[in-house]
Amino acid sequence: MASRTISQQLMRIPPRPLTTFRPGQQQRWMSLEVLNASKHDRERVLILGSGWGGFGVARSLDTKLYQPILVTPRTYFVFTPLLAGTAVGTLEFRTAMESAHNIKGVDVIRGRGENIDFANKQLHIESQDGSLVMDYDKLIIAVGAYAQTFGVPGVKEHAFFLKDVADARRIRDRILERFEEAALPMLTNEKRKELLHFVVVGGGPTGVEFAAELHDLLEDDLKHTYPDLVDLAKITVYDVAPNILAMFDKKLQSYATQLFNRQNIEVATSHHVLEVQHDAIVTKEDGRVPCGAIIWSTGLVPNTFVANTIAKPFETLGAEKKEMKIVKAPRGMIQVDSRLRVLAEPKEGGEAQPLEDVFALGDCASIKDLLLPATAQVANQQAKWLGKALNKSAKRMVEVSEEAEFHFRSLGIMAYLGSWNAVMQKDKLDVKGKLSWLLWRTAYLTKSVSWRNRCLISVYWFLNWFFGRDINRF
Ligand SMILES: Cc1cc2nc3c(=O)[nH]c(=O)nc-3n(C[C@H](O)[C@H](O)[C@H](O)COP(=O)(O)OP(=O)(O)OC[C@H]3O[C@@H](n4cnc5c(N)ncnc54)[C@H](O)[C@@H]3O)c2cc1C
Repeated sequence: MASRTISQQLMRIPPRPLTTFRPGQQQRWMSLEVLNASKHDRERVLILGSGWGGFGVARSLDTKLYQPILVTPRTYFVFTPLLAGTAVGTLEFRTAMESAHNIKGVDVIRGRGENIDFANKQLHIESQDGSLVMDYDKLIIAVGAYAQTFGVPGVKEHAFFLKDVADARRIRDRILERFEEAALPMLTNEKRKELLHFVVVGGGPTGVEFAAELHDLLEDDLKHTYPDLVDLAKITVYDVAPNILAMFDKKLQSYATQLFNRQNIEVATSHHVLEVQHDAIVTKEDGRVPCGAIIWSTGLVPNTFVANTIAKPFETLGAEKKEMKIVKAPRGMIQVDSRLRVLAEPKEGGEAQPLEDVFALGDCASIKDLLLPATAQVANQQAKWLGKALNKSAKRMVEVSEEAEFHFRSLGIMAYLGSWNAVMQKDKLDVKGKLSWLLWRTAYLTKSVSWRNRCLISVYWFLNWFFGRDINRF
């Protein structure tokens, strides 16, 4: 459907009387007329994405100074560190979700940023119900990234990714389905072993934590439900690298590998995956290995929106028209400066300059000359910094370039390894085992966004430990 301009684009519901609407006040439905009228003298900030970056900035902006509008295809935030736990029933799905509608004073449009008109400061948005064009004063791009598949055939069709709550639900369903199938009396043990072979591709923290959580589900719960089947089940973690958890130091890597071996999780490092089939994985080293589910977690590639934005040159307005393009950072992400402003350079080459009112953060962005990991920790700190910097600059009526630069402060890295063991590394400090697990749980409980979820997480951890995980499939 062709895009329409703001004045043409009205939703079907009649606008609320303007007299009842004040800055900072929130409503569930909106017309663009109402949105424009309620802007008053505030700058409009369009925020793309409701993940760690976008959700974080939206929460930090002062709605007396700005009109924040969140544009996102999913109108909730996902607390990703808890996703692996939800995929095996250690926690319920809702504990990893926060509604974007709960951020006071922030309007939410369920749609996808499609195209940016930098010269006219307009964003083209596509939603299931049509398209619209929206003006912005400031634009914040926090659209995350897609899972890297390295072009391996069959990954998109047959493997599971773990990026969203819907993925976690599908994975939980598949695991339980495989056990129900394997319990059918007419099957041979050979067939049962194939169905109950669970493969994780990617030995980074996400893949490792999923394998650990799955091990706990098998040992703590399915062992009681299917005592004869659990011994036939197997978990294998494949990685092309020589070690799992490459970002941890060698001692913690070998601790993790040894613990996995003791827990019967096979660590198949230095393995090259050639193909994924609906019931098997094919590696260069082992050939075709039948399995019942493959969880794929091997890094990131740019989101299509980011790739298109970088690929498409744009023209500046003014007397001296110039063709510019967004600077592509290594790994194909958007390059930003130390104040998270998007960098653009003349199409024919030349010095890169920041776009004053366009920012990018989180997994979709990369700061020039600074290599930061693609983590929630980074995206969260960037979001808080950007929110504060924008608030301060609006109060002082200056550009963000006048504010202090963003600096990342590492809080350490952690990974859960199963059976209440974890590893944690901060500067030169290494912690492993049960103490590390306690720190891991405390960190994620306290970092969780709402009190509602903090309470639910504690309750579900206790209930599922006491009564066992929910193994219903629905
Ligand atoms: C299972 C899992 C566990 C993890 N565990 C940890 C951990 O323990 N610690 C840690 O530090 N990091 C962890 N990470 C990494 C962390 O989640 C990411 O680095 C973080 O989510 C990046 O935040 P983001 O806002 O850039 O992107 P995301 O959180 O991915 O959010 C992107 C948002 O953009 C939206 N979007 C996409 N396209 C568009 C578009 N065209 N227009 C508008 N919106 C769009 C998406 O719907 C989404 O809302 C984990 C990741 C996963 C998947």
